[in-house]
Amino acid sequence: MTYLDHNATSPLLPEARVAWLDAEDRFPGNPSSPHRLGTRADAALDQARQRLAAILGCSPPDIVWTSGATEACNTVLHHTAARASAAPVCVSAIEHPAVLETARHLFRDRLHLIPVGRDGVADLAWLTHHLARERPALVALMAANNETGVLQPWREAQERCTAAGAAFFCDATQWCGRLPARGLGACDFVAGSAHKFGGPRGVGFLKTPSGSPLLPLFHGGQQQEGRRAGTENLPGILALVAAFEACEARLASEGTLPARRAMRDRFERDLLAALPSATVTGAGAERLWNTINVVMPEVADCRQRWVVKLDKAGFAVSTGSACASGSEQPSHVLTAMGRRADEAGRALRFSAGWLTPDSAWHDLLRAIVALQPEMAGTGSVADAR
Ligand code: PLP
Repeated sequence: MTYLDHNATSPLLPEARVAWLDAEDRFPGNPSSPHRLGTRADAALDQARQRLAAILGCSPPDIVWTSGATEACNTVLHHTAARASAAPVCVSAIEHPAVLETARHLFRDRLHLIPVGRDGVADLAWLTHHLARERPALVALMAANNETGVLQPWREAQERCTAAGAAFFCDATQWCGRLPARGLGACDFVAGSAHKFGGPRGVGFLKTPSGSPLLPLFHGGQQQEGRRAGTENLPGILALVAAFEACEARLASEGTLPARRAMRDRFERDLLAALPSATVTGAGAERLWNTINVVMPEVADCRQRWVVKLDKAGFAVSTGSACASGSEQPSHVLTAMGRRADEAGRALRFSAGWLTPDSAWHDLLRAIVALQPEMAGTGSVADAR
């Protein structure tokens, strides 16, 4: 099977597997236990915090380990809701449901959506104008969109929020491990998740503002300075850090990113040449090198059929986000970009990982071209020639 669904979850990198197994053997103790095995586990946890802080550019105590990005996002929004009695929040219209749904639930009519342009980039001018009028309790803008890969102006948004005295939250779940993480430490809150960059599932982190208390989402233990109750997943955390460092090392090597972008661009060019009525979502914007979102040509019930047919042909690909793909609703990301519901329903997402070979893209293209007459035969004839 050729796996092109890394934005849903990315298989464990070898470096993470080694770190995980090593930690299971070396650190059997609970970091909260008073004996030597506990102390040793606690010291390993401290070291992991230092290594992650070095990648993000923040202080080690700012890091809170979580079960993943959904928990990190919920923590930020619950913390904000409990502290801001009447203040509104601004959240981009294309956030992952972990942010958007939680903000809707907690803030209801105090939620302002930051619009995006047709290219999928959040409207900074809107944010600047809004900040001049009122000070929200929180502004949330993701670093890179999970469905389209479109990069967001989070650095500029962070600067503007800091200047306006508003807390800034960046969900960097799809950015971490794919683009250099430096600079993220300047954001008040940052969410990340190991399984998106080759670490294990069920472990993530939240970067919090230095020196300020965080209201815990969970109660029942004093772990992590009372900020997150529950025994820390030490092997998972050490594997997270190992995977993150391995990705950063790849990113630091000269020529890596241009080569990866060239791979993506070549596939898109060849795909559009083969299917002239397909369109690449966010084509005009800067995007992650690993993500391609294509609105496929019009045919009856195209979305399901492409995914199923490609699956049978040996390719694991996705429609929109992993969480949205089972639902009947058109993607909120694509509709926020001005796509019609029927177009959003025809979107396919291909997302690669560091170990995806160049040949995967060639093979995928060949499979799509081979399936296309069959697909076109079931509906519109736009690309049937
Ligand atoms: N935020 C973004 C941008 C995501 O893409 C995802 C997962 O798809 C999440 C948050 C939730 O991550 P997790 O699976 O770690 O809860």
